[in-house]
Amino acid sequence: MLTQQEQLKFSRQIMLNKVGEQGQIALTKAKVLIIGLGGLGNPVALYLAAMGVGKLTLVDGDNIEVSNLPRQILFSENDVTTNKADTAAEKLQHQYPECDIEVIDEMFDADLAEFYLTNNDIVVDCTDNINSRYLINQLCVHYKVPLVIGAATGFDGQHLFVNPQDKNSACYHCLYPSSEKAPANNCQTAGIASPILAIVAGMQALSVFNYVTLGTSPTNLLSLFDGITMRWQQFNLQKNKHCEVCSQ
Ligand SMILES: [Zn+2]
Repeated sequence: MLTQQEQLKFSRQIMLNKVGEQGQIALTKAKVLIIGLGGLGNPVALYLAAMGVGKLTLVDGDNIEVSNLPRQILFSENDVTTNKADTAAEKLQHQYPECDIEVIDEMFDADLAEFYLTNNDIVVDCTDNINSRYLINQLCVHYKVPLVIGAATGFDGQHLFVNPQDKNSACYHCLYPSSEKAPANNCQTAGIASPILAIVAGMQALSVFNYVTLGTSPTNLLSLFDGITMRWQQFNLQKNKHCEVCSQ
């Protein structure tokens, strides 16, 4: 049951036919792991806390640098040198006191995976490098936890939802079996048009919203955004029957 105050606060979400009060209750019970609190993780965490997700676990071992500020919108100059997950949690907790927020101020790895993947309903990958993306995909497939992947570099954005609970869902490794073909996504080397992050993060937050409230979000759909032509391209993926990650 939602309190009267919650019904009022979340009324525009509850009003959505397919969501209703049950959908909002599902959000308040949802536990979401956000890996990476940079340009994608900042807006993803803000949206998830604002829309009423009950528990967020924020993971990042990096400290804030001044060059992060044009896109990492939770942070200000006073926060430079502090840990990203810690500082994001502090800001979010102040704005959304009802959200239960846990911090892991180190890089996500296989040692953290067993506990944190089995204790969360869905994972949002907001990291900025290929190696982390492969590792998180592999671990989410192993522990059968739904995964929302986002990436952004230059003027380009990418979004993919992987649901290892669905035996037909393709994974990131099906898409890029070798790292040579995967986009070498790194804002430090390629630069980034800041609003691209809002677009991709919006897609990621929407995947979480839909998965939690509607029980589903499309898999096997790769969405690519070109920020210069302002066009989306979407591709239907097939699960690779020989994928060494998801078809074992
Ligand atoms: Zn696969």
